Amino acid sequence: MFKKVMINILLCFLCTSITCVSAISVNAHELTPKALPKNLTYNSDMRLTVAEITYDMTQVININYRNQLSYAINDWEWYDNGHVSLRSTPGLANVYATFYDSYPSSFHKDSVAATSFTNYSENQSTWSYSRPLMGPVYREDNLTKIIKCKVYANVKKQRSSNFNNTDIHKSWTHEIGHTLGLNDTNDGTVSVMKQGKGSSFGWAEYWKPQNHDRDDLRRFNYRYWYT
Ligand SMILES: [Zn+2]
Repeated sequence: MFKKVMINILLCFLCTSITCVSAISVNAHELTPKALPKNLTYNSDMRLTVAEITYDMTQVININYRNQLSYAINDWEWYDNGHVSLRSTPGLANVYATFYDSYPSSFHKDSVAATSFTNYSENQSTWSYSRPLMGPVYREDNLTKIIKCKVYANVKKQRSSNFNNTDIHKSWTHEIGHTLGLNDTNDGTVSVMKQGKGSSFGWAEYWKPQNHDRDDLRRFNYRYWYT
């Protein structure tokens, strides 16, 4: 079987000059995810697919950053439509997501946070979904399975940008969204996957997964992973 191991890095900018321009007139976010977590289980009682996320936050040394991370994890537990299960497994060798409040010098210094992935591509897999009411079915080949994630907060940049605690909280929630397979959204959608400083967005409870994010998880249901 063809397997290609690669590392991808998603940098999350504060002031984004990057806009997602799609050639077709759909919301860029509607085309996510193109990568999915490796551990997906089907819950036959609830009839939904659950991403089992193991994580280690012991590398987050700053107690405030660790607290905000705990809140972000708790939010994904509560605002996930049942599709996410996050479990603390510090020290586990094959832990899925490791969080850091240190930031690699090789990464873009103007990003407020970053998530790197170890992936392999599954050529046989096809991801697709039908829009809820009407419209075309989109197909994406070369769906990527995420093996491992490392999530870094750029504390220095966040401090110089006057991040308050809910901005820090939002930043963690956003990065966890990446570990679940969600992509950045900068097209006006009210989504925690919008890049930047949450308190500048102008909507309530910007630090939580938004209705759009919950709907994404329900709609995708990670269901095409098994095809
Ligand atoms: Zn991002």
